[in-house]
Amino acid sequence: MSFGSGTCWDGSETLLHGEFGAYPPKGTRYVLSLTRTELHIQRLVPKPDTDHRVVVRLIDVIGCHTLRSHTIANQSAYFCVYSYPLKKRKVAVGLSRTRQRAAKTFQVDSSELYEDNQKVAEKWAAAIKCLVLGVSLASETEITRSLLPRPRRLLLLLNPYGGKGNALQWCQTHILPMITEADISFNLIRTERQNHARELVQGISLAEWDGIVVISGDGLLHEVINGLMERPDWEEAIKMPLGILPCGSGNALAASINFSAGFEQVLGQELLTNCTLLLCHGAVSPMDLVSITTSSGSRFFSFLSVAWGFISDVDIESEKYRHMGSARFTLGTVVRLASLNTYRGRLSYLPAPDCTTHRPILRSITMAANGSLPFQHLPLHRTVSDMGLCEERRTFCFRDVESSDEPTPSPGSPPPSSSFRSSSFNFETLTGDLVADGHGPLRVNSATTTPAITPARQVHGPLDDFLTPLDQPVPKSWVTVEDDFVLVLGIYQTHLGADLFTVPWASFNDGLIHLCYVKAGISRAALIRLFLAMEKGTHFEQECSHVTHLPVRAFRIEPLTNKGIITVDGERVEYGPIQGQIHHNFANLVTGTNRVKVTPF
Ligand code: ADP
Ligand code: MG
Repeated sequence: MSFGSGTCWDGSETLLHGEFGAYPPKGTRYVLSLTRTELHIQRLVPKPDTDHRVVVRLIDVIGCHTLRSHTIANQSAYFCVYSYPLKKRKVAVGLSRTRQRAAKTFQVDSSELYEDNQKVAEKWAAAIKCLVLGVSLASETEITRSLLPRPRRLLLLLNPYGGKGNALQWCQTHILPMITEADISFNLIRTERQNHARELVQGISLAEWDGIVVISGDGLLHEVINGLMERPDWEEAIKMPLGILPCGSGNALAASINFSAGFEQVLGQELLTNCTLLLCHGAVSPMDLVSITTSSGSRFFSFLSVAWGFISDVDIESEKYRHMGSARFTLGTVVRLASLNTYRGRLSYLPAPDCTTHRPILRSITMAANGSLPFQHLPLHRTVSDMGLCEERRTFCFRDVESSDEPTPSPGSPPPSSSFRSSSFNFETLTGDLVADGHGPLRVNSATTTPAITPARQVHGPLDDFLTPLDQPVPKSWVTVEDDFVLVLGIYQTHLGADLFTVPWASFNDGLIHLCYVKAGISRAALIRLFLAMEKGTHFEQECSHVTHLPVRAFRIEPLTNKGIITVDGERVEYGPIQGQIHHNFANLVTGTNRVKVTPF
């Protein structure tokens, strides 16, 4: 051994240390050291390789399974670590880094008895899983499976029409294989129409789920949040951890989560892989919501943005280019720039007091340089989809047994993904067998579900203590600007789209609505420069006199131009006076990391 017990070669504390064989068995042996953030792998046989250590970062790891051989005579136990590290890849222009799956299997063979080897394999698997899930481990902690929380049960809601319409395919190829390796139990429901998800979440039994995850764009999460807020038990319901796996054209929240984890800004399947990885880690952070009131008296909740003018025009008018995915917004921007509209209106706001987050010195930001439950007919609602997915059989299966010594899952473990022949997912393989390590399959108790409510929406939620009714003047402490605007935007996340890094200093729970507006008179060239710079989040450095950013607690928009489009979270709402106020730390978001700071209001 080249480093002393208790510390790793880089000085960090070692929690576990051991010597193992490799699988497939080629005579290679390794020394493994586990610290709180990394797994260090050093080759011992055939030739100690002190210069070359493989370091697996635990942020890239999603799970670890124990396995055993088909052959009874083989007394070894195995554990397989599933990670998705960034690998350099040649692209048309230079190199890019993308995540690629790596499953490393180690053979525990120090004892002649399987039971002893199995205990060691279990200990390593439990330690790795604890660290991935953020369960703290002290060096003196006795590591056993009992330290692990029970596997999470997630309700996955998939919009097959989000984005370019490939959510179902990406779910098979990316999401389900990963969450299975992470021992997450799930029920997957494909939405059948608009507001289906909204109605579904009104009928679920909260105790049965550890989280609700949308596989779509921002629009489906908007439905889920409002469905939860329409429940009589909204106060408890809105605390349900919410996740998003980006398969839409507007993936702003997913991009904000990706940024908060310190990952490079990426699009498409790379953003999806990053977000699925973070979902597997599971850490939850508080998130602000904004309650919105419109002139017809309807009230609902928003997690992302309110837009009027250029941005909402592009969002809605580009619906016809939906087949282009997120590129629809670029084309929509070009088209709208050619006939730039301005809108007269009154914008009022309540400035945030003593706000240190107003245009801070920019942080240095790294940019792009750089199973389950068997799929069952869940009796949540009679419209629960049958899932065409179920018909695709046996494509995600064990490879034909070439060697009788091939490891299989230890009792209770899921199948080893390292032996999967195809990345296409098969529900049948996982039937009744998702949960690792001896836990039985989970059951969903249908008796506690309640019928879906009628379309009439009931308004619930906390008091809007900053707002006066829309037909009354705003309070005296507010500021009002009457002008011609190119756009007005209230945003409460860093990103307005996967590549629109709109408010780099925003955070999920800063208690702020970042009010941005652009006044008429800005040249087209300046507006183009603004949007181009937004990809890297440098647009505020341009010091354009037509552009204003203000951190506020509440706002009111009163359009004086007759026709126009207003969107909330990218969804069109009635045109007319609209107002909103922040509700601090109101919801919970699965961000996967604990880097999010809890800010006082
Ligand atoms: P995108 O980012 O591509 O717009 P969204 O998740 O925002 O994707 O969804 C777009 C719209 O589709 C939302 O208004 C959502 O409510 C709606 N929707 C959800 N499920 C369905 C469905 N099965 N059929 C049609 N529309 C749906
Ligand atoms: Mg949308």
